[in-house]
Amino acid sequence: MTSPTGEVYRIDWLPGTDVLHGTCHCGAEHAAEDPVAMWEWMLGHPEGHTPQGPDS
Ligand SMILES: [Zn+2]
Repeated sequence: MTSPTGEVYRIDWLPGTDVLHGTCHCGAEHAAEDPVAMWEWMLGHPEGHTPQGPDS
């Protein structure tokens, strides 16, 4: 799922675990067992991230 603003998040559930693995459109990744904690990361993460992705 994508949006015109380019803010794309992806969350995968790691099979056999309770761990959620989230990937931001800027390439940042985060893992959390608590969906609430994951969403807090997603919502708070955009501050300081680089929408164009890592280029170094
Ligand atoms: Zn990001």
